[in-house]
Amino acid sequence: MLIVQKFGGTSVGDLERIQNVANRVSATKKEGHDVVVVVSAMSGETNKLVSFAEHFSKEPARAEMDMLLSAGERVTASLLSIALQEMGHDATAMTGRKAGIVTDKHHTKARIEDINPDTMQSQLKEGKIVVVAGFQGVNSQGDVTTLGRGGSDLSAVAIAGALKADLCEIYTDVSGIFTTDPRIEPKAKKLAKISYDEMLELASLGAKVLQNRSVEMAKKLNVNLVTRTSFSDEEGTLITKEENIMEAPLVSGIALDRNQARISLLGVKDRPGIASDIFNKLAAAEVNVDMIIQNKAVDETTNIDFTVPVGDLSDAKTIVDSFVQEGEINADSYNEDICKVSVVGVGMRSHTGVAAKAFSTMADNNININMISTSEIKISMVIDEKYAELAVRSLHDSYELEK
Ligand code: ADP
Ligand code: ASP
Ligand code: MG
Repeated sequence: MLIVQKFGGTSVGDLERIQNVANRVSATKKEGHDVVVVVSAMSGETNKLVSFAEHFSKEPARAEMDMLLSAGERVTASLLSIALQEMGHDATAMTGRKAGIVTDKHHTKARIEDINPDTMQSQLKEGKIVVVAGFQGVNSQGDVTTLGRGGSDLSAVAIAGALKADLCEIYTDVSGIFTTDPRIEPKAKKLAKISYDEMLELASLGAKVLQNRSVEMAKKLNVNLVTRTSFSDEEGTLITKEENIMEAPLVSGIALDRNQARISLLGVKDRPGIASDIFNKLAAAEVNVDMIIQNKAVDETTNIDFTVPVGDLSDAKTIVDSFVQEGEINADSYNEDICKVSVVGVGMRSHTGVAAKAFSTMADNNININMISTSEIKISMVIDEKYAELAVRSLHDSYELEK
C-alpha cells in the first residue's frame, strides 16, 4: 500500500516525539508499505514566528509572512528525515515546492491549484521515505506560499489525492473525531466513522481537529481519511462517504468557534445593489463572511449584521469604513466577544424538531441567541462568548451524545 501519514504540531512537539514519529514511520515502512510523511511545525512554533513578525509590524507583508512561517515545517521535515536516516532508512526531506505543490497567489491563505507528484514518485520508486514540509507551496512566480492555519492537513490530503494513496492518516493529540471537543466536554464520545459532509460542517464551524479545506478536498478526491492519535495504537475515526455508514445518528456532533466577530452596519442606504457592493468587496479581499442578517428599518435605511473570522476583521473594517466615508453607511460597530455553537448531523434532513431542541436548550440555560443560521445538516447560533462552554455541554446533553 501507499500510505500518507501526517503528524500535527503536538505529535512533533519535541525531539523525543519526533523520534516517536520516526519509529512509527519506520514500522509502517518495514511492514512493506510506501510512505509519504507530511509534518507540521513543532507545536507553538508557528505562533512564535507570528509574534516575532508582530514585534516589528502590526501588519507585516504577507509574502514575508509566508517565507517566515514556512520555515517551521522545514525544521521538522529535516529533523524527521535525519532521524529516519539514522535508523538505517533511505529518507529524503522536501519543501512544498519540491513536492510539486503549486498554489494561487493569496499569501497566507493560498489555495492549491495543482500538484506535480513526479519528484515524490521517483523518490518512492527508489525505495525512499519521502518527508514533506506541510502547510506550504509555491505560486506561479516562484514565491513560497502557505495554506492557512492548520494547512498541513490540506497538504497531506492533496498529496494523498495526487499520488492516489490507499490511505491518508492524520495523527494528532486526540484519538479521533469526537461528538464534540473532548477538551470542553470530557464525556464526548469517539465516532468510529463520520461522513465527509458532516466532518466538513464540523471543521468549517470550528472543530479544528481537521482543517476544513482538507475535508473538502478529501471528499472531492475520494481520499480514505483516518484521524488517530500518535501516542498510542488506538483505532481512530474513518471519514468516508455517507453510504458507507450504516446507521447515521440524528446528530453527530457539536462544534464551537470562538474565533468569530460580529460586524454591525447601521443606517445602510436602502438601494438595490448595496448588499452586492459591500459583500463583493469583502469577497474580493478573501474575507470569509458567514451569517448575515438584514433588518428593515425606518427612513430608507436598513441595518445589516454579519460575522467574520477574527483574523479577517481588520480587512473587513477597512472595506466597511470606505462605505461609511462614502456616506453609504451611517455607522459601524464590532463585537469580538461572541462565539458560534453549531449542531451537525445528516439525520436532520429527515427529522423535525432538531432546531427547536437547540433553541430550548439555550432558553433553559438563560443563554440569549443573537443570530441563527441553518442548512440541511446544521444549526448554528451566535451567542455571547462567556456562555461558550456551557452551551456546548448543554447541547451535548440534550442530544444525548454521550450514549
Ligand atoms: P494538530 O496539531 O495535530 O493538527 P489540532 O490542535 O489542530 O492538532 O487539532 C486537534 C484538536 O482538535 C484536539 O486537541 C481537540 O481539542 C480539538 N477538537 C475540536 N473539536 C474536536 C472534535 N470534535 N473531535 C476531536 N478533537 C476536536
Ligand atoms: N504550522 C501551521 C499552523 O500552526 C500549519 C499546521 O500545523 O497545520 O497553523
Ligand atoms: Mg491541526
